[in-house]
Amino acid sequence: MALKKGDILDEFKRHQQSCGLVVKVMGGGEGFERIVCCGHDLTEEDLVPDAEIIRGRKKGSLPPAVVLDEKKLYQDSCGLRVMIIDGGAGFTEIRCCGHVLTASSMRDLQYGKMRGPEAGPAGTA
Ligand SMILES: [Zn+2]
Ligand SMILES: [Zn+2]
Repeated sequence: MALKKGDILDEFKRHQQSCGLVVKVMGGGEGFERIVCCGHDLTEEDLVPDAEIIRGRKKGSLPPAVVLDEKKLYQDSCGLRVMIIDGGAGFTEIRCCGHVLTASSMRDLQYGKMRGPEAGPAGTA
């Protein structure tokens, strides 16, 4: 399957007993496989027309509005970019183009960005 810009995935659509992760696609997504959250696989089955304001979403270590950018970690990727809208306490990873994007890899990236222009990632296997 593939995602496109503007797509919104809502974990609450199929899983009421979840953290209620909501993500919005900002770009890329041709190689999208799935998002793993709370032990669920979020796929095209979880697409919603709009991000609903539902109480009970549990925020995790990912702050809302943070953008996960596949291209910054993998140059040969489709460049999936997703924004965390809400929830995410159970967020595990995003699978895209055979890559695994986790919250910690994104955090490292943000720290690297703050260190300055010469802080290139070294030895990310
Ligand atoms: Zn979840
Ligand atoms: Zn991709």
